[in-house]
Amino acid sequence: MAERTLETEAQFLKGVGPNLWKGLRKLGLESVEDVLWYLPRRYEDRRNLPRIRDLRAGAAATVKGRIIEFKSRPTKGGKVILRAVVSDGSGAMALVWFNQPWVSRRLAEYKGEIIAYGMVKDSNYTLEMQSPDYELLSEEDDPEDFARIVPVYGLSEGVFQTTVRRAVRSALAGYLDLVQEPLPLEFRNKHRLKGLAWSLKETHEPTSEENRLEARRRLVFEEFLYLQLALQMKRAETHRELGIAFPIAALEGGEAIESAGTSGGNRSAVVKKHRLDSHLFEGEQAMLRDHEPLWDQIHRILPFELTAAQRRVIGEIYGDMAMPHPMNRLVQGDVGSGKTAVAACAMLAAVRSGYQAALMAPTEILAEQHAINLRRLLEPLGIEVDLLVGKLSAAEKKRARARVSAGEAKIAVGTHALIQESVEFARLGLVVIDEQHRFGVLQRAALHQKGLGNPDVLVMTATPIPRTLTMTTYGDLDLSVIDELPPGRVPIKTHWKPPSDRPAVYEAVRKLLAQGAQAYFVCPMIEESEKMQTQAAVDLHYRLSTGDLKEFRIGLLHGQLKPLEKESIMESFRKAELDVLVSTTVIEVGVDVPNASVMVIEDANRFGLSQLHQLRGRVGRGAKQSYCILICDPRSEDGIARMQVMVSTSDGFKIAEEDLRLRGPGELAGTAQSGNADFRIADLIQDGLQLELARKAAMDVVAGDPNLDRAEHARMREKVALRRSKLAIVTVS
Ligand code: ADP
Ligand code: MG
Repeated sequence: MAERTLETEAQFLKGVGPNLWKGLRKLGLESVEDVLWYLPRRYEDRRNLPRIRDLRAGAAATVKGRIIEFKSRPTKGGKVILRAVVSDGSGAMALVWFNQPWVSRRLAEYKGEIIAYGMVKDSNYTLEMQSPDYELLSEEDDPEDFARIVPVYGLSEGVFQTTVRRAVRSALAGYLDLVQEPLPLEFRNKHRLKGLAWSLKETHEPTSEENRLEARRRLVFEEFLYLQLALQMKRAETHRELGIAFPIAALEGGEAIESAGTSGGNRSAVVKKHRLDSHLFEGEQAMLRDHEPLWDQIHRILPFELTAAQRRVIGEIYGDMAMPHPMNRLVQGDVGSGKTAVAACAMLAAVRSGYQAALMAPTEILAEQHAINLRRLLEPLGIEVDLLVGKLSAAEKKRARARVSAGEAKIAVGTHALIQESVEFARLGLVVIDEQHRFGVLQRAALHQKGLGNPDVLVMTATPIPRTLTMTTYGDLDLSVIDELPPGRVPIKTHWKPPSDRPAVYEAVRKLLAQGAQAYFVCPMIEESEKMQTQAAVDLHYRLSTGDLKEFRIGLLHGQLKPLEKESIMESFRKAELDVLVSTTVIEVGVDVPNASVMVIEDANRFGLSQLHQLRGRVGRGAKQSYCILICDPRSEDGIARMQVMVSTSDGFKIAEEDLRLRGPGELAGTAQSGNADFRIADLIQDGLQLELARKAAMDVVAGDPNLDRAEHARMREKVALRRSKLAIVTVS
């Protein structure tokens, strides 16, 4: 045998050999190191197993007994059902497998004891477990595995627990001393982390529950740490890059603010900073100061008072904009929290500094709506807003592009086609990305690639993201939260009704419409096909306008309409020339018609929670009492739980947390394509606290040693490099 290293092939482990190695390789276990890091899926306490007689349906359990009856019978569909009755002397129960002939081959002649683990269910006469994990004791288990807490590993066909356990045991016995500790001792002491070798051993072979948890904590922390270091290093890099230092202080009437010091320490710090780095000449600065001070102008153009949260976030944005480094900020605000006004303020500052701003929205309808709103606010100031969407006529596009590249259009609003179709800006200073989850995470590099320089980037999302996900998926961005809704909002009343209640629902909607309300009807999402979804909307529109709501004016909106048609329908609804808008999910994000106060969502269980929350956010925007009616009849417990969440809260963050809990991180909007939430050991749902701690630790480390150059960080740096290469900061697409 060659030298003893962690890279040694696992076949050389004592008790493994080439044959068993084949099985291990099916699990991806090539080397000794792979084996050491193949952590148990769960543990089984075999010190006192329950008696079969004492089992109850509905909980997972481990049983041990002998097979007293074994049957294998074909089904109509050509599959095979195996049924083994197991007795432990106190009672008997059935183990059932569907279509797993290899199980049959193992069990048919087996005479020894079997251990099975699974969910206990009631079947006709006995309790049963379906497709349980199982081990044949006399055949495969080592005597050490009796009467202790044993690790249970993930397996695949033809690989047995014993094999994995044996490999792990020899790896621990013969190689653990080779495991290198990547975390410096001082760091471990500070964060109370056990050693790596100890933690691996205690994870595989816990000597106590306490030790097992300590060991796990160390491994979880470490896993989070590398990601957080990677993200913080990336963030620090952005902060070092050169960007535009907008002369915010001059716009604000910097002198006055600085001397009076009334506007908060934050801003005067910015003023000083800006002083140092401003790229504008004194003359230009004086000219800007002569204009109406920025905040006065903001108060004048907005038809409402900003909330304190909006003011704070705008301040944070201005702080970034004043710095000579590119802004990379994520603004989170629940639906209706007023992100558009915040974006408008950011763009106003950019334009007044002599730059252009671009706003990208996920859909054309949204882009159009933003263009309308921005024009209303900014055109009185002489700031021209151009709409640039993929479906404009060639001539219109050409004209708009020309205006943008000549710098006549100060603000360009569009879908992501705005960037993709190589629009040239004369002097792009700020990019605002609205409802960002549709884009994936913006990669600053994508802007560079398009030759758009190094503008400030503001990402806005109305999908509240659980904090754990913000810290992982968006961990390299700075974060602002608009945690306050404009005053005077009446909480939306949400009801969940079965389809059989439709007549009553329609009757209630009719009454509200008669009182001047406007209503949205949203059709079920049909993932397979946009055509089918459109068809569903067409059908519902027909049913409503010929039947239940025939005395009202009903519009129809779906993705297959031409942009102009969509625009004119939205416009009619906005002007209350339509009472009802039947729509597919195209209205999901951002659409803002304050008079609309009724939202009926068909087949609501087909939507994700965050999506329902988005849809519901289309109402409750005015002073009127709003209603959201979810029509569906979910069969699964999960589906019922989701509807209950919707009925019980309108807090987007709570809903997002529930979504995370019910569906797992991979499924959440916008994060699926980013591997940042993939962890080997850590679990975003239960390990939030460790994530928080690891993030703080990473910030400390990067603050003192931005590139991990110090000798004691060398191993950490290697691990981070690995993690960084996997960092999925997805491009705009
Ligand atoms: P979202 O954050 O969902 O994008 P919008 O920017 O569309 O929210 O704002 C929602 C509604 O609230 C709009 O009708 C907007 O005019 C209004 N609004 C925004 N800020 C305020 C405020 N401070 N006071 C009153 N109304 C506001
Ligand atoms: Mg919005």
